[in-house]
Amino acid sequence: MRALLASLLALAAVSPVLPAQAVDSLPALTVGSATAHRGERAYGALVIPAGVDSGTSIQVAVIHGAAPGPIVAFVSGAHGTEYTSIVAMTRLIERLNPAQLRGSVIIVPLLNVASFEQMVPHVNPVDRKGMNTQYPGDVTGTQTARVLASVAQHVVRMADVVVDMHGGDLDEDLRPYSYWFRTGVDSQDSASRKLALAFGLDMIIVRDLDLTNPASTRSLSGYALSLGKITFVAEAGHSGLVTAEETAMLVEGSANLLSSLKMMTHPMKPVVHPLWVGPDERVRAEGGGMFFATVKRGASITKGARVGFITDYVGRRTGDVVAPQDGVVSFIRGVPSLSKGATIVTVTKRYEGAPPAYAKPKP
Ligand SMILES: [Zn+2]
Repeated sequence: MRALLASLLALAAVSPVLPAQAVDSLPALTVGSATAHRGERAYGALVIPAGVDSGTSIQVAVIHGAAPGPIVAFVSGAHGTEYTSIVAMTRLIERLNPAQLRGSVIIVPLLNVASFEQMVPHVNPVDRKGMNTQYPGDVTGTQTARVLASVAQHVVRMADVVVDMHGGDLDEDLRPYSYWFRTGVDSQDSASRKLALAFGLDMIIVRDLDLTNPASTRSLSGYALSLGKITFVAEAGHSGLVTAEETAMLVEGSANLLSSLKMMTHPMKPVVHPLWVGPDERVRAEGGGMFFATVKRGASITKGARVGFITDYVGRRTGDVVAPQDGVVSFIRGVPSLSKGATIVTVTKRYEGAPPAYAKPKP
């Protein structure tokens, strides 16, 4: 009773004189079952109930900084076997200190749990759908659509900045790079360019989107851009390996990105001479067979140069694979398995100096 009286008296004494600017509009941040108060880190999950198929649960961490500021969401593992990005995001959770953070960070390291557990690349094995091609999702759809609807509502809509992390899939021997997605809206384009330079990966793929075309807004980044958010996409990792070097690129890059937003202090090393690259061309397999690369990821090559060869299943050579254009090998197939339509190599055109101005892509 005495305690209650004391707290009532304290309230009466404090409330009327609380200055308006001291009122925190977001004393707690809730994402799914995770609720963090200012200065706290909380763990929980986005629970997706069973519907037309099985349900799932996506674990999430919320780091609600002691001081108010921007909300940044990091999502990885849409491709559940891109391990480097998934592991990097778990390390980022422990790296961030909520007591010293300005603003808030939402981290979803593993979106595609079934892909991870069953080691099925590219798609959600539950419904065979890609988990970065179906935004904004659908609560009445199959598991992928229901997961993405939940991410759209609880993660993307909450955030000012959305970071989509990828890691070079099981079959991709990939050179690390980031994306600068441009929309033609100056404020968005300059903000995301700044994030790409701050993050620190030296190769930056420039891609122009037309947000009036629904095909451009089905990825996480395209969807977030269509809502007026700032986005950033990075990719490091290759062939199912989790190397300390590539994991650090994504963890340190994320800290750099948060520092550039003045949410934490971290010695940044922005890219001074970025390798700007543009439109890519890929070679796809015509059918089954075994592929053997003869160039390395990141190699600079000219159109027509051999990048590898194909054999049948008794080792007889059935053909060469050649570069479809001049440029940089952004990734090349890291395993022998081929099937019709599988990407064998992606070659990205190199810009001489700065990239050209935004040009609305033709539909
Ligand atoms: Zn990916």
